[in-house]
Amino acid sequence: MDKNTLDSDVRTIIDGASARLLAPRPGECLVCYVFRQLGEFGCNGTHRFAEGYRDRTAPRATALLERLGSMGACCCDCEMFLNAFTLAHKPWITSMPFGELIGTRFDRDEAVDLRGAFGIDEPPSSTVYLCCRLVRRGSTQPCGNWSRIRRR
Ligand SMILES: [Zn+2]
Ligand SMILES: [Zn+2]
Repeated sequence: MDKNTLDSDVRTIIDGASARLLAPRPGECLVCYVFRQLGEFGCNGTHRFAEGYRDRTAPRATALLERLGSMGACCCDCEMFLNAFTLAHKPWITSMPFGELIGTRFDRDEAVDLRGAFGIDEPPSSTVYLCCRLVRRGSTQPCGNWSRIRRR
């Protein structure tokens, strides 16, 4: 095997891994998906995750970016969490291991900060996960974990 073959094999493996990572989970809502990807990869100043979600699960939602823009998230993914959506009163948070598979992990420090907002009484032992409450396929609505930020 020469070096070029090896390189392209490695690239195939990496592409496969990031494609898996980037794929919305079955039933995962737009907002949980973008939240999870931002936690993983950060914002690059575009709507790459919102667009990726739309392309994969709701290609007919052609007005999605327009709608996000009208909610205050006109320019990039992280604005969705500054201007448009905030965690609902009681989002689905778990510290059970299955959260690893279906949720977005919070570090201990973040979790402590979030405790008040989440109504978790005892300090989380180590990590907690925010798990999507799921939406029907083709929807671009948030699940019950999120509520709209009402702007004046
Ligand atoms: Zn951003
Ligand atoms: Zn969700």
